[in-house]
Amino acid sequence: MTAAHRSQSQGDEGHPSLGDLFPFDEPYEAQQDSTTRLAELLRQRGVAVLEGACGSGKTLSALTPALQAVRDPQTQFERVLVITSVKQQLRAFEQDAQSINDNLPEGVPPISALSLVGKEDVCPYANQGHISTDDFYSRCNSLCDPVRRAGASAPGIQEKIGLWDRMAGEAMDGSGVLEGDDWMAPYGESIPTDDENDEYCPFYASFRSEMQKEDTGFSPHGIMTPSDMLAHGADAGQCPHALMRTGLENAELLIGNYYHVFDPVTVERLTTGLIGPETILIIDEAHGLEESVRGLLSDDISRFALDRATGEVEKVLNSDGDLAKHARQYLSDEGVSEQEARSFSQFLKSVIQWIDNRAIDNLEDHDSGWLDDLDDLPEDFEDNLREPDEPQPDEFSEWVEDEGLENQWEDVAKIGQGIATALVEAAKEVGGSRDQTYADSVGRILDRWRTCGHEQYFRQFILEKRDRMYEREDGWKQAYRAKIRMHNCIPSDPIAERLDQFGASVLMSATLAPMDVYREVVGIDKLAEGSEDSVGRPVEEMVYGLDFPEENRRSLALKTTPFTGDNRDNPDYDQFWDDETEAVRNEYRNVILDVAKTTPGNVLICMPSYREGEWAAKLLKRDSGVEKDVHTDKSSSEEETEKLKEQFFAGEAKVLCTGLRGTLTEGVDYDGDRLAAVLVCGVPIRGLGGDYPDAIQTAYENRFGENNGFEYAFTVPAVRKARQAIGRVIRGDDEVGVRVLADARYAEEWRWNNVREYLPEYALEDFQTAGIDLLNAGLERFWEGAN
Ligand code: SF4
Repeated sequence: MTAAHRSQSQGDEGHPSLGDLFPFDEPYEAQQDSTTRLAELLRQRGVAVLEGACGSGKTLSALTPALQAVRDPQTQFERVLVITSVKQQLRAFEQDAQSINDNLPEGVPPISALSLVGKEDVCPYANQGHISTDDFYSRCNSLCDPVRRAGASAPGIQEKIGLWDRMAGEAMDGSGVLEGDDWMAPYGESIPTDDENDEYCPFYASFRSEMQKEDTGFSPHGIMTPSDMLAHGADAGQCPHALMRTGLENAELLIGNYYHVFDPVTVERLTTGLIGPETILIIDEAHGLEESVRGLLSDDISRFALDRATGEVEKVLNSDGDLAKHARQYLSDEGVSEQEARSFSQFLKSVIQWIDNRAIDNLEDHDSGWLDDLDDLPEDFEDNLREPDEPQPDEFSEWVEDEGLENQWEDVAKIGQGIATALVEAAKEVGGSRDQTYADSVGRILDRWRTCGHEQYFRQFILEKRDRMYEREDGWKQAYRAKIRMHNCIPSDPIAERLDQFGASVLMSATLAPMDVYREVVGIDKLAEGSEDSVGRPVEEMVYGLDFPEENRRSLALKTTPFTGDNRDNPDYDQFWDDETEAVRNEYRNVILDVAKTTPGNVLICMPSYREGEWAAKLLKRDSGVEKDVHTDKSSSEEETEKLKEQFFAGEAKVLCTGLRGTLTEGVDYDGDRLAAVLVCGVPIRGLGGDYPDAIQTAYENRFGENNGFEYAFTVPAVRKARQAIGRVIRGDDEVGVRVLADARYAEEWRWNNVREYLPEYALEDFQTAGIDLLNAGLERFWEGAN
């Protein structure tokens, strides 16, 4: 760290300086600049939009000033919350935080950090294979039930503690010891049983007891990775996940995912307490924020859930048992009258009837004799409840109005929540538990349907074909499941509203450019402007290109004919290609072969889809001049993709062909000599055709201007995808590699559909435009020079 950083000393208050926290002696130039600017901006409640090329050390650039602001008693900040959409990045933040701690000057206490993961990741029983991952949540819940029952049966706190301690104590007598790689639980190897012969979880019993004795919550010391948390909880004999939850507000650094900030349900259940002016938010991989939040804000309500919710209301209102009696009492405590609950139930029944009618209408429209041949019905029906390009009120909303049901619709969220709470609390009263209710989620989503704008949300009625006939149902329900769906089209307002709840934010990625578009689509310009209710925020753009030696890389934008759906036709129908298609395919065939043959190392070929990836792999395998093994990536499970990656990295140089929408072109580290060349063919624009994409385009046109709708919603994200893939190669000072964007849209600015304008200045300087005639010779020359 330089003198300038060091000079920001511990100061009068004794808190650490940027230099104390930055763990290396020599930051990259980009890190030096960005940490200083961020330190200033965060203190002004600012929002940073930071693009830093892959390998430029963004993680530390953001963590260092954010943690320094938290340690500074002059600020309001208490914690940093980092969210990322890529699991591997979670590890990167943990590692960088660890290296900060490892290099702190003497006397500076270590940063406390927790990673937010699911129960399954830290459960000692799951870790040792005693609970299968297939039904983990219901198994965990059933092991907790006897513990809850014991608690409910005891009259006072001391009695509860006594019972839970006894349960934990009895589990110590079992045979063997439950242990993992670096932990040993104080319990026997097998899951213990209680007096009723029901299996129970001693970790949970001990946790409940300890929380009664001392309820300050868990305070992490140092960086607690999921395996540290597992070891800590298991050694202490307490449920690691339950402990983790109690420690959220005590950690200085929390590392989670987008759900923890943007999914309404996760926020309500877990992270509400973390969202506020005392938290600095860092969003990693922020180029994907728009698409991720669009997904998180989209919601379904199934006929099944409506039916279950109705059943819950009936149970509370009409049953005679103890549970219902307690539930009615709780319902009233929640401020919901029986009359309101009845009205809610009546409304849900009307919605179910509407769904049934809509299902039959769809099937009648398809074939009036549908009931005679249920086996032979089409796969799915997607029935638009409004025109995609006309953001009018949808037909469901209109039906509610026509039927005069608006009043019943108004309080659904409150009543649904009241019924769910009443059932959960009543279950505890009678010594049981209830981990799932429907009335709350049905009420919440119906309320969102009512209150969310019609342009922001596209609505559909969906019939989904069952895998096999469901004989217990009758009519169409044997063959289909029905639901209504609200798809988010444009998430900029909700993103801006959520960002405004934090003290300050950093949105970062290797590919945010063009910055002006990014600021508009994620609502940052709105934050800068401010509103009646909130003061405008200072917003700063920070852009840092590749800081590595230029001679180590060859970056080309090739003037090949655009590789569009129209130009290239279907890869499977080569016998039907016309001359033009054949010519386009030949151009790309030559480029693919040139890059694969000239590269003395691993090559990643990125095509617009998996099918195109298969085409590339086929032509490479057929060519006798290609000496490398050729691997093909397809849509597959995480384990299969991991296996493919391992094969690719091991042994001799290979070629891997994939689709640009897959998982191998983003967030995967190909550092060192794992990758020598990346070739991107085409611009992977998604959303050509389809009602939902049309609705997205309309929303973007209405918000950002008619000429910008398609570009902002689809073209710009596609260019970011391509740049992500290109960023896999060259991630360090001594890495050497070739990066090729093949498609004239990247190369020729005069084209009406050029995308070169969406590359940042530093990439434009890097990516020289070139024809394909001299590609082979040029690449050979580069590698000779590099060798
Ligand atoms: S309560 Fe905790 S330790 Fe027990 S089974 Fe569930 S996750 Fe595992």
